[in-house]
This record gives sequence, structure tokens and C-alpha cells, in this order.
Amino acid sequence: MTATLESTSPQAPSDVIATVPEMSADDVRAAYARAKEAARSWATGTATSRSVALDTCATALARASDEMAELVVREVGKPLTEARGEVARGIAILRYYAQLALLPEGDVIPSADGVSLLHTRRKPHGVAGLITPWNFPVAIPLWKAAPALAFGNTVLLKPAEESPACALRLAEIFSSAFPEGVFQVVTGGGEAGAAVISVADVVSFTGSTAVGASIRKAAAERGIPAQCEMGGQNASIVLPDADLAVAARVIAGAAMGYAGQKCTATSRVIVVGGQSAADAFAEQLGAAVAALSYGDPASADTVVGPVINSDARSAVVSSVSAAVSAGGVAVTGGTAGDSEGWYVSPAVVSRLAADDRLLREEVFGPVCAVVAASDADDAVRITNSVPYGLVAAVFTDSLGSALKLVPQLEVGMAKVNAPTSGVDYFAPFGGDKDSSYGPREQGTAARDFYTKTMTVTFAP
Ligand code: NAD
Repeated sequence: MTATLESTSPQAPSDVIATVPEMSADDVRAAYARAKEAARSWATGTATSRSVALDTCATALARASDEMAELVVREVGKPLTEARGEVARGIAILRYYAQLALLPEGDVIPSADGVSLLHTRRKPHGVAGLITPWNFPVAIPLWKAAPALAFGNTVLLKPAEESPACALRLAEIFSSAFPEGVFQVVTGGGEAGAAVISVADVVSFTGSTAVGASIRKAAAERGIPAQCEMGGQNASIVLPDADLAVAARVIAGAAMGYAGQKCTATSRVIVVGGQSAADAFAEQLGAAVAALSYGDPASADTVVGPVINSDARSAVVSSVSAAVSAGGVAVTGGTAGDSEGWYVSPAVVSRLAADDRLLREEVFGPVCAVVAASDADDAVRITNSVPYGLVAAVFTDSLGSALKLVPQLEVGMAKVNAPTSGVDYFAPFGGDKDSSYGPREQGTAARDFYTKTMTVTFAP
């Protein structure tokens, strides 16, 4: 009998959204064979036909956008306004790569003899294995699948076990746009993901750092291109000359939007000016966080809904109580809700021991720590003291300070007077150190990843 897994709603755990098969390695091999067969005509078909197909997907998703946003709310507890924004972003990504499919396929290069036609052609890898997390169940699959498809690959998408219904619904919505086998969803957990890595011709992963480490190793052993986008421990540095009220409001949103379950969420706030400045800012941030609307994600006003599951809620509650037991201060939040669902109130903690878990590990929930720095150099040292390097923000009124600090940050993305969370899909996305491996995602960078270059010489 085929094993199955269930996805349930974070705000109503008794609400079972989907029961899907845990696909076996044999199932995945069969899906790969279909995708490989489909890749022959998909890759040799015209770029205009691939462009039209992606545009058709965009139109179909736009028609289904209300229903899709509601499914995102129900399956992963994302607040409705953010869920709508994510679906809109998915549509925009499809339209963007529908156009990029029409970019020139290569370059003409001067030949040594002056008469040969020396040129390059981009070719797809074949079947792209896409392994995705639950926190952006529409946007992440699409920011991988759209460029993979645009440049001639076919796709095996393995969504997280927490969000199979969103992926399967996307496949239904897109069904009329693609020939058989071009876009397939593989359901299951880590074993199904590993089976995808064992057959795919190129792999793109987003998820935790631990799983990403095993995937890059498996991909290297098979000699296939891989990109892994992983965890973060993102810092916002607040300099004394910043507009502190604006900084507190922006950081509150960056730390707690979607209950802090974004790889780009702010989890450390580093305040320059010593302990008294940090204590004062912690109060201001605590007030801004407490003012955020917290509760039912189906309400359009909600900013902070539930976390994904019971383990995620325990991680937030236990990390805050451990920090307090060790002498830290809970400025606000950190307690489990008493209604149904995996609710935990958004937490700001301060005065932590230097080795506190909240300053070293990604908790992936609505919790952030305020840390004192003696000066800007100290703030840079603290920012860079973790193994992660996804994104960091600097809040300051001084252009000179921003220009001096930003290049010293060991991150893939930096923001000045802006939230750590959120980067436009048409810009390269990725981190430094343990947060990323391989080439960047999104923007035109995705074309380099999903294609390989062939150099062709035509002698006269
Ligand atoms: P996860 O690593 O647990 O799972 C991600 C995916 O990997 C899932 O589809 C899962 O089934 C699959 N998987 C698990 N074990 C596998 C294995 N051995 N081989 C192949 N696939 C396997 O992550 P998650 O809990 O779904 O997502 C949260 C994490 O994702 C956080 O750490 C967050 O920071 C990270 N994230 C990073 C980015 C980014 O762009 N850097 C974006 C979003 C989320």
C-alpha cells in the first residue's frame, strides 16, 4: 500500500487540506523518464512557444488568484494580504520569464582567422529537480520553475510536505499550457526529495541549511549543477543618527511579518550606542511589535498569524524562556496562544548572553533579539559573527556611514533604511557563507544557472 502524508492548516490543525502519496524512488524515476522524454521536444521547440506557454500560465494563475491566495492562507497560515501579494508576485515572475525566454541565445565572437563564424549557444540541462520549502508555496516554486522552463528544461517540483496542495493546484492551473511531462509535481518528504536529486540533470533547492548541505554534496557526487538557498540569521544595524521611530516600525514588520517565517526576516537588531541605547530601542521596537495585528490569517488586517506547526511554536516558546532563564529580558511576547492553532505572540528579547541560541541559530519564528554595540565597527563584527550571510540592513541618516558599513557586511544582500525581508524578483537573490551555495537565483542570473554554453565554430 502506498504511504501517504497529510497537510493540515496551522490555524486549524484538524483541517486536513490534502492527503498525498509519498512517492517512492521508482515513482520518481518514472516521473523523470516522462520529463526527459518531454524535454526533447520542449528544448528543441521555439523560444516563442515557451514564452507563450509561460504567459498562458500567468493568465490562468491571474484568473485563479483569489482561490490560490485562500489556499495559501489555509495551507501555510500566511496572512491574506501577504498571500495575495505572493500570488501577484508569482504571476509577475511568470510574465517576466515569458519575456526573458526571448533573449538572444548566445554571442557572436570575433574568430582568429577573421572568416569563421565563432559563436555560442545556450542549451538547457534537461530535467530540473526543484526542491522547495513551505513558506512561499507559490513564489519559490515559480521563481525556480519559470526560468527553468523558459530556457528549455522540464521540471520535477518536489514541494515541502507541509504545502503539497498549493503545488498540486499550480500544476492543475497550468495543465493546459504544457505538453505532458513538462511540469510535474513529486509529492513526499525528504526521501522523495533525495530521489529527485538522484535523477535530475540540474538541482535548485531552497530550505534549511542542514538539508541544503546534504543536497550540495549529493549533487557534487553526481556532477550536476546545484544551487542551494538556505537559512539566515539576519541583522538590522541601527545607528544613533537613524530615525528611530521609522526604524522600529520597519524592523517590526521585517522581523514579524508572516510570523517571522521568511529566510530574510530580521532576527537580530544591533543597536549602536551601548546598552542604554539598546534598552531604549528595545522598548520602542517592543511597542511597534505589540501594535502589529496578530491572529487569524484569513483576516486582511492580520500581520502575524500562526507558525507552521507545533514544533515551530515550541521552538519559539522554549528559546524565549531559555533566554529569560539565562538573564535575558522578554520585552514583549513569546507565549503560546490559547486558541486552536499554532499561535505564539511575537517576541522581542534583549540583554542576552553572547552565546544565546537566539544570537547563533535560526529559530524561524516571530522572535528577534536586541543587542548592544559600542560603535559601528562593533556592530559589523557582531553582524558577521554568525555562520549565515543572507541579508543585513543598516538604518542611518548618513550616506557616508551607509557607504562605509555596507561593503563590510558578509551578506549576499544589503538594505539601507529598508526591511531585510523582500527583494524584487528581477534582481539577483542569494546569500554569503552558509546561507547559499552556487549561483544566484532570479533576475537574469537564473538564465546562467538553467543553461549551459556550447561554443560553435563554422569554418567557411
Ligand atoms: P527543509 O530543509 O526542512 O525542507 C525543504 C525541502 O527539502 C522540503 O521539500 C523537504 O521535503 C526537502 N528535503 C528534506 N530532506 C531532504 C533530503 N534529504 N533530500 C532532498 N530533499 C529533502 O526546510 P523547510 O522547513 O521547508 O523551510 C524552512 C527553511 O527554508 C528555513 O531554514 C528558511 O531559512 C529556508 N528558506 C530559505 C530561503 C532562501 O532563499 N535562502 C527562502 C525560504 C526559506
